[in-house]
Parts: sequence; structure tokens; C-alpha cells
Amino acid sequence: MTSSPLARLGEQTTDLLSTIGSLATLDALIEAEPSLTGKRSLLSTLQKSLGSLEPDDRRAAGAQLQAARRVVEEALSARRSELERAARVLQLESDRLDLGDVVDSAVVHALSVGHPGLIATTQSQLEDVFVGMGFTVADGPEVESDWYNFEALNIPPAHPARGMWDTFYVDLGEPETVVLRTHTSPTQIHLMEEAVARNSLPIHSVMPGRCYRRDTPDASHLYSFHQIEGLVVDRGITFADLAGVIETFTRAYFGSDITSRLRPAYFPFTEPSAEFEVTCTLCRGGGCRTCSFTGWLELGGSGMLDPAVLEAVGIDGEEWSGFAFGFGIDRCAQMRHQLTDMRALIENDTRFLEQMS
Ligand SMILES: [Zn+2]
Repeated sequence: MTSSPLARLGEQTTDLLSTIGSLATLDALIEAEPSLTGKRSLLSTLQKSLGSLEPDDRRAAGAQLQAARRVVEEALSARRSELERAARVLQLESDRLDLGDVVDSAVVHALSVGHPGLIATTQSQLEDVFVGMGFTVADGPEVESDWYNFEALNIPPAHPARGMWDTFYVDLGEPETVVLRTHTSPTQIHLMEEAVARNSLPIHSVMPGRCYRRDTPDASHLYSFHQIEGLVVDRGITFADLAGVIETFTRAYFGSDITSRLRPAYFPFTEPSAEFEVTCTLCRGGGCRTCSFTGWLELGGSGMLDPAVLEAVGIDGEEWSGFAFGFGIDRCAQMRHQLTDMRALIENDTRFLEQMS
């Protein structure tokens, strides 16, 4: 009795699966494929040998061999997929640029976020100080009529004080003279008019904003600058209230070792008027080149509201009195940060801006 050609099929199939499992690369698999399932493979040789079997035996053996072939082919296909996937990963690894240091330093920066400029920051700090003292913050237009910028402030057309301001005129083709405001004082007029119209006196407000003068920019002058003015209109207001507000502000903003003093001055819209000076922020009063060895730096102007100004807006000077003061926001920033050249405030040099963040 001849033994069946498939007597060792189980063992042989196991060997084939083991061979497939040990194929390490796609190339090896492609090379081995003909010997595993091709015409000269063991499975094909066994197939041919079935011809010598009786028909019934041949059918049974054929089905058995077919099943074995399917197992082998599936294993081969699965192994092919595995090896292809591994080859793809290797390819991606080798294709990837080695960004190494580049990623750390040049391409991926920390997210750069902007910040308010020095003037905006200073303005907001000043507002905070005054709000803490009970003032409200008011805003006004930068383009004004001659009346608001000058006349209502007791500066009629022929008044010599007009020489104090080099003005930008705006030609709108209208008979009325229009200017870029030379100071924030017109906002005081708007506030007082509004308070009269609404019968809402008293007023305790500060008015920060941009102003314009026809100055040639240099280390201490800009054609566009920022002021903050304060206005108080109430009953029984005296010069002592003015001095008290300025001193309280000075200590709150510059520090408790910085004090203020008032010196007689002239402004058309206040009477009496005073310039106010604060302890030199550089030498803390000891005397230095910046303060001409006086220990004091001039900061702004102030005074009691002139009755003519109250009258211009229809406030009864018998019942109400008040004071106003004003100074440069840019000047405050300059003093507090010891800037030697104010032009740095408007030149947008990023090195300066970053330093002041
Ligand atoms: Zn000094």
C-alpha cells in the first residue's frame, strides 16, 4: 500500500507558515514567493502527485490540499501587508527633514503678543490715580472750532496769549475757523456746557487726550503730544483744594518721596494761575544736570477758573468756583522712565517699544 502523498501535509504546512513568518523584508518575501506558492513550490508538486490517486481519494486529498494552500496564501498576504507597512514607516522616517536645532531656535518662536505703548500705559496709570481720588474720565474731539479751543477759554482772536500756541489750522472751506486742538482744555468747555444743559454740576473730571502744536520735533518737543487736564467745579472750592489735589496726585503717581510746589504763572483761562513743579525724579531733589541743580522739574500748569470762562459757559460764578490743571502725559512717561529724547515715544522703534513693555 502506497502512503498518501499528503501524509505529512500538516507538518509541511506548519514549516511553510514558519518560513513565511521569518521573512524579514519585502524583498525577501518577493524572492521567496515562487517557492512558497508558485509552480515549482511544494504545494504545486503535491497537487501534481494527486493524479495517481483513485478519483474519490483524489477529490478528498484535493480539498485538503486546497485548504492548506489557502492558509499559506493568507499567511503570505498578511506577512506582505506587515512588511509593506514597516517599509512605509522606514521611508517616512528617512524622508523627514532633520529640523533639530532649527525647530528650537528659528522656526518656532514663542508666540509674540503685542502690548500697549508707553503713552497708553502712562495714560491709563494716570487715570487710575485720578479715579482713585474721585475723578471721572472724560473724552473730547481732537478737531475743534476756534471758539472751543481759544475764545471760550478767554483767548479772543487778538489776545497776545495766542502767541503761546503754534496752531495747526484745518481748512474745511467753512467760514468758521477750525483747528487741531492745541490743548485738552476745550474738553473742559464741553463738560461745563453739558453740566449746565443737564443741570448736573458739580464736575470732578480728568480729560486725557492727544493735542497738536506746530513744533519742530526735538528732544523735548513733539508736534503731537498727550495731555491730561483736570477740572473741578463745585461750591466753595479754593486754591487750597487745588494745591491738595496736585500734591496728592504727585505722591500717588511718582512715589511718596516726591512732592510738589506751585509757582505764580499766567494762563488766560485761570486766575490766579500757577505752574507746578515736582521733586526731580532723577536726583530725588538732590540737584542734577536735568533739573539744573534746583532739585525741581516743571510738570504742568494750574489755576482757579477765571470768572470769564465760567461766564462763557453760563455758570454762575457767585455760586460756583473751581480750578483746572494740566500736564503732559508724554512728559510724565519721560520723567518716570528717564527718557532723554521724547521723539522715542513716536518713532515706533521696536527696540524701544520692546524695552518699554
Ligand atoms: Zn535733578
